[in-house]
Amino acid sequence: MTRRPPTAVDHFDALSAVVDLVRSGRARTRPELGAVSMLGRTVISQRVDQAIDLGLLEDAETGPSSGGRPSRQLRFNAGCGLVLTAVLGAAALDVAVTDLDARVQEHRHVEWSIARGPEETLAALDGHFAELLAGRSDVPLWAVTVGVPGPVEFSTGRPSQPPIMPGWDGFDIRGRLQQRYRVPVWVDNDANLLALGEARAAGAADEDMIFVKVGTGIGAGIVNEGRIRRGSKGAAGDIGHARVLEDNQVMCRCGRTGCLEALAGGWALARDAVTAVHEGRSRYLADVHREHGEITPADIGRGVTLGDAWCMTAVARSAERIGSVMATLVNFYNPACLVFGGGALTVGEPFLRVIEHAVRSRSLPLAASGLVIRGSGLGELGGVVGGAHLAVEALLSADAMAAWTPQGSPAGVEPGRLLVGV
Ligand SMILES: [Zn+2]
Repeated sequence: MTRRPPTAVDHFDALSAVVDLVRSGRARTRPELGAVSMLGRTVISQRVDQAIDLGLLEDAETGPSSGGRPSRQLRFNAGCGLVLTAVLGAAALDVAVTDLDARVQEHRHVEWSIARGPEETLAALDGHFAELLAGRSDVPLWAVTVGVPGPVEFSTGRPSQPPIMPGWDGFDIRGRLQQRYRVPVWVDNDANLLALGEARAAGAADEDMIFVKVGTGIGAGIVNEGRIRRGSKGAAGDIGHARVLEDNQVMCRCGRTGCLEALAGGWALARDAVTAVHEGRSRYLADVHREHGEITPADIGRGVTLGDAWCMTAVARSAERIGSVMATLVNFYNPACLVFGGGALTVGEPFLRVIEHAVRSRSLPLAASGLVIRGSGLGELGGVVGGAHLAVEALLSADAMAAWTPQGSPAGVEPGRLLVGV
């Protein structure tokens, strides 16, 4: 987007700061805004009035008096816009509509194979979005976000050679959705959205975090000082294809050999489970295979909870390998928190226990001191919630507000002008 003229900087920086301080709960009254922002009283008063005119803030009930005049409480009006947010998985879609606080108003989890390609998948997405918007026409749509299970060039919103998304390489997902919805669209890797959702749910505690998604594949999202770090092209965190084995026999679905996910990802365990069935090593898996004709990562996760010995050993070995890679990353990046989630294998204590041991026994004492290792708290909603945060934070930035506030709402503004952070 074009930078706004320098004379406007103070105005929109102040407007964005005022809205953000109220939205995040750090300030609830005009005097509190003065105390935490260093902005002058007149500027605060004018920017608050502007935010109220825009419908972003509202005067709520009167706050307790501290001797002088009572201060009116300010509240962020999260209901003044909607975000449509979707995460495409290998075998399912999560779609949701949220308010501007990323609170989910309605959510659907639908079985869907991403291998059906972009046209069919986005048409299905349109159908779900239309149903989610039905009955909400009084609130304008502000943005759409989509997470995909593969590398995304963040500046263009196009998948880049995604191993499990045939037909999607270079597809203009953003252009297709922007044309239809006439609002800004962000497309990101699913692990990044999971990381952002988790970081915002945890608050300041998780400002330096790595979120590791262990589902069918393996990926990671990096949060640094509260922001997602995507690297120069958007490929940061793609640890699933780090080579961990100097063995050319183990083929990965990316076409290379010895990748972490070819040994420890859900699809690799499902592959090994079929071999285990043929070798007669698990009655539980044999039953699953006979009944469904296949074995999924979720079946293996269920096997762990049922106490199946083969599943427990396989998942423990997977956790050990992932933990070993994470120990290297802990030494390199020194995060405050490692969060695991995003799939059937991370469910339950045993996985985290093995990870914890593998990470702590291999990382440097200083890097591991105070390190929190835990499971995700948001479950399958994490990605859609993260997507909503991504869009709303971008639209409430000073640059974006300079572009849309003259029109009163991001709806109807040329979407390209609002794609900040891209
Ligand atoms: Zn690979």
